[in-house]
Amino acid sequence: MYVLALSDEVVPLVYSLNIRDHFPTVKLILGCGDLPYYYLEYAVTMLGVPCFYVHGNHDAPELTGNGEVVAEARGCTLLDDHVLRHQGIIFAGLGGSMHYNADSRYQYTERDMLLRVLWLTPHLLFNRLRYGRDLDVLLTHAPPAGIHQGSDLAHRGFRALRWLIEWARPRYLIHGHIHQNYRMGTKTYTHYKHTVIINAASHRVIWLDLH
Ligand SMILES: [Zn+2]
Repeated sequence: MYVLALSDEVVPLVYSLNIRDHFPTVKLILGCGDLPYYYLEYAVTMLGVPCFYVHGNHDAPELTGNGEVVAEARGCTLLDDHVLRHQGIIFAGLGGSMHYNADSRYQYTERDMLLRVLWLTPHLLFNRLRYGRDLDVLLTHAPPAGIHQGSDLAHRGFRALRWLIEWARPRYLIHGHIHQNYRMGTKTYTHYKHTVIINAASHRVIWLDLH
């Protein structure tokens, strides 16, 4: 299945009247955080496909044109702290970044993230028994520790996410958040044990090869 992963910036190619011509094969949108909700809603409406997303550290309530305040992307499914199956593919989401200031509700200490990971584990164990695997795609905002991470605290990866991919063996971890120097040859694909880790900052069409 082709998915369109979006993260961190509004891309004119996506926020375009010709979006369907640009992404004709996409069957699902994955939002990795730090995006305006209207942008995800636009992509969902125009492409006519579902969207699963997680929050980024910069996500905040948004004022719509009608004067309404929205705190989630309408018509999209928030995947944070959830596990779900879609067309036989198992997805889970853990958004947010490392805690570095008090400005956002989507910042977590390493301990916070570990608790969120532990909260998911019974669901993943159920999948292991029921489907023979824990998880296919883990959607996050921040990367795992030591992979694609930045040098400052805000962009450091989580050890808990690294432990999770070692334990649950997802085929993919798709993240955003790391977009500094993105166009200067930053590594965006890494194979680590059983998992391909993909930095989707900006936008990326990904073929989920799961069969
Ligand atoms: Zn971020």
